[in-house]
Amino acid sequence: MSNVMYASTRNQEQKITASQAVLQGLAPDGGLYVPDHIPALDVSLAQLAKMDYRQVAYEVMKLLLSDYTEEELKHCIHAAYDEKFDDARIAPLREADGVQYLELFHGKTIAFKDMALSILPHLLTTAAKKNGVSDEIVILTATSGDTGKAAMAGFADVPGTRIVVFYPKDGVSDIQKKQMVTQQGDNTCVIGIDGNFDEAQSGVKRMFGDAAMKEELAAKGFRFSSANSINIGRLVPQVVYYVYAYTRLLAEGKIADGDLLDIVVPTGNFGNILAAHYAKQMGLPVGTLVCASNENKVLYDFFSTGVYDKNRQFHLTSSPSMDILISSNLERLIFESTGKDDGKTRELMEGLARDGKYEVTPDMREKLAGFYGNYASEEETAAKIRDLYEKTGYVIDTHTAVAAAVYDKYRADQGSGRPVVLASTASPYKFSRAVMAALGKGDDALSDLELTEKLSEVSGVPLPPAILELKSAPVRHEGICGVEQMPEMVRAFLQK
Ligand SMILES: *Cc1c(COP(=O)(O)O)cnc(C)c1O
Repeated sequence: MSNVMYASTRNQEQKITASQAVLQGLAPDGGLYVPDHIPALDVSLAQLAKMDYRQVAYEVMKLLLSDYTEEELKHCIHAAYDEKFDDARIAPLREADGVQYLELFHGKTIAFKDMALSILPHLLTTAAKKNGVSDEIVILTATSGDTGKAAMAGFADVPGTRIVVFYPKDGVSDIQKKQMVTQQGDNTCVIGIDGNFDEAQSGVKRMFGDAAMKEELAAKGFRFSSANSINIGRLVPQVVYYVYAYTRLLAEGKIADGDLLDIVVPTGNFGNILAAHYAKQMGLPVGTLVCASNENKVLYDFFSTGVYDKNRQFHLTSSPSMDILISSNLERLIFESTGKDDGKTRELMEGLARDGKYEVTPDMREKLAGFYGNYASEEETAAKIRDLYEKTGYVIDTHTAVAAAVYDKYRADQGSGRPVVLASTASPYKFSRAVMAALGKGDDALSDLELTEKLSEVSGVPLPPAILELKSAPVRHEGICGVEQMPEMVRAFLQK
């Protein structure tokens, strides 16, 4: 029973182990791997409250990655959650205006994707060893800004791996772009795309689905894998910090054992909030999962109407990591809401590929009742940053502010009154221009990097190492291409 196996959302017949699913990334049929059951936590919350981040990580991850040995898993956890993080608590909570901000940005690239991407390379190379794979692993990733950098930071110079990252060349912040093009490591390759994130992601998906290309590269000893949030090796480590947050509040006496917590998540690809949903299914006392969108509010419309429709204008916002019209991980929730019907899931996803939309049944909608969706406009997001700062002195980034503004709407709509944890997904330093503008202290004459210094004066928070390093880093990656040329670029890099 406790041995969790994985199968595709579009074909439940073939079951594989967790480590095989980590190696595969996306299923061959285009579906996403899902666990055949979600095991309950087997250590009490009170016990977890006495553990540190790594120990909690082990207790959570061992349940979902059940074919990794204790030694293997602890090795991965210790390699990931170490001094790379600038806070020993790894994911500290900060209370402001009655909200517990779970700061997930203390890793190498000062955004929450470090939480999973610092451990994925270790889960992946361990999985390769376990399964007798000797091919070089080639990570292909499309990024809306943060993933690519966090993935490269994780994979740079890890033996037996290479990584190729595509980003929308006009869809990321200056600092994100700078972080990307200065990436170190001979096994890294970064390319700007003439297109938006969804086009870049579709291009990557096409390569994963291209059997001929796969064969051609296999003959040369390469094997594709994904670092995108569809990989269960990304998803599982994200379950950890919700359990960690709950048990910290318990340890501090801010909640009692069993009290329900609401969780608010600024959402793009639906990975982070899905991890919270899995934590709830493992027995963590969670009330409502609040799904916050920016002006690309396809998820809000989905939760309020049951229709997912990506046929709409795409907005470039001040929270670019949420500028997404196809939230890939939603497929896992859809699958669950069909009662684990792979045929029905395939049909809906084919509808999405063909018509750009699908509609779920009333039965399925009932199963989504634990979610509340809403969105924040650009003005509401900026106002939230300013108001919170004026009230408390705490400065949050634009993505976190979308969530905070949506939480206000949720409270006004439903007023649960439960304690709340809000996923704070990026450091304000990563989006210094938008944050300073929101604070009424914008200055067009200054670069984003110069603005980080002004921001530091305003917030009183010292500049993190990730920003300090950028000042002197040389540009190493200048490639740009159209969406059609993506496979050529990958082939060229692998020739080297
Ligand atoms: C990726 C990202 C998000 C969205 O997370 P998903 O798991 O894709 O929903 C939100 N905020 C920031 C800063 C991000 O980098």
